Parts: sequence; C-alpha cells; structure tokens
Amino acid sequence: MACEGEQVDRYLMPAVRGEKMDALAMTEPGAGSDVRGMKCAAIRDGGDWVINGTKHFISGAEHAHFVIVFVATGEDQPPRSLKKRITCFLVDRGHPGFIIRDGYRSVSHRGYRNMVLDFDDCRLPVWRRCLVRLTTGST
Ligand SMILES: Cc1cc2nc3c(=O)[nH]c(=O)nc-3n(C[C@H](O)[C@H](O)[C@H](O)COP(=O)(O)OP(=O)(O)OC[C@H]3O[C@@H](n4cnc5c(N)ncnc54)[C@H](O)[C@@H]3O)c2cc1C
Repeated sequence: MACEGEQVDRYLMPAVRGEKMDALAMTEPGAGSDVRGMKCAAIRDGGDWVINGTKHFISGAEHAHFVIVFVATGEDQPPRSLKKRITCFLVDRGHPGFIIRDGYRSVSHRGYRNMVLDFDDCRLPVWRRCLVRLTTGST
C-alpha cells in the first residue's frame, strides 16, 4: 500500500490480483526481535542502491515472484540517540546479486519451508525503494 508510481503496476496490482506472490524479509541471523540490529544494508551509488547482506527464516520465498526486503540505509539522530534508518525495497526473484536458497529444517511443522536470502552487490534503481517514511529516513 506504500507503493507509488511504477511499483503499483509492477508489484501491488499483480499481487492484489493473485498473479504475483511476495515474501516479506526482515529477520537476519543476528537480528530477530531486535530488528534495528540488522546488518543487511543498502548504500547509494549514483542513481542506484546496492544491497549486501543476508536474511533468514523467510516464509514463502520459495514461491515468491518478488520480495519486500527491509534493510539499513544509514542512521538518524533523533533527540535521544542514534537510530538506524530502515528502508524497504522490492526485489525480483532472479535479479542479479540476489539468491534465494533453502533454509532450515524445522523440528516440527514438517510441511513448512523457510528460505535464506543472499544479497551480493544487488543493484537496484531508486524507484524500487518504498516505505522510506517507516522511520525518519528521507534520502
Ligand atoms: C514459522 C516462522 C516464520 C517466519 N517467517 C518470517 C518471514 O516471513 N519473514 C521474516 O522476516 N521473519 C520471519 N520469521 C522470523 C521471526 O520474525 C523471528 O523468529 C522473530 O523476529 C524472533 O527473532 P529470533 O528468532 O532471532 O529470536 P530472538 O530475537 O533471538 O529471540 C529469542 C527469544 O528471546 C526473547 N527476547 C529477545 N529479545 C528480548 C529482550 N530484549 N528481552 C526479553 N526477551 C527477549 C524473545 O522473546 C524470544 O523468546 C519467522 C519465524 C518463524 C518461527
């Protein structure tokens, strides 16, 4: 719902119509409940963003046409202390630098699969960024 411009036609409406499936990726090996501890980060490079890092325990990624991934994009200085800025990107399955691989075998819930997502210099154009106002981020 935070989609705008080209994101609406390429992601939001196909997802609403059931034509495209998505997965939501926040959790990392060192950042679960403490989501602001995330290390997966995107840096700005000219007109693009470049993502590096790993997400794990991601449900539905084995079927997803695209993932909605939350990554660190810097820090803000609110009155009390530094706060990690978190920004959301839309990444297609098969995009260069983006790999979806098998996750862990569950002790129970045998029918459930989870996946690990690797981002290795995954370069995205700026328009794939959304939800920048999730925190105070604006760049
Ligand atoms: C079935 C399943 C599906 C999932 N699907 C997804 C998904 O699609 N996308 C995604 O991004 N993530 C997904 N996750 C990951 C899930 O969001 C994380 O497991 C969750 O955020 C907890 O993180 P963690 O497992 O690293 O545990 P931790 O954060 O390490 O927590 C472990 C335990 O410590 C406790 N704890 C942590 N911090 C504190 C504290 N400060 N004070 C007191 N107690 C604390 C917690 O309550 C918990 O009991 C899924 C997890 C499961 C089990």
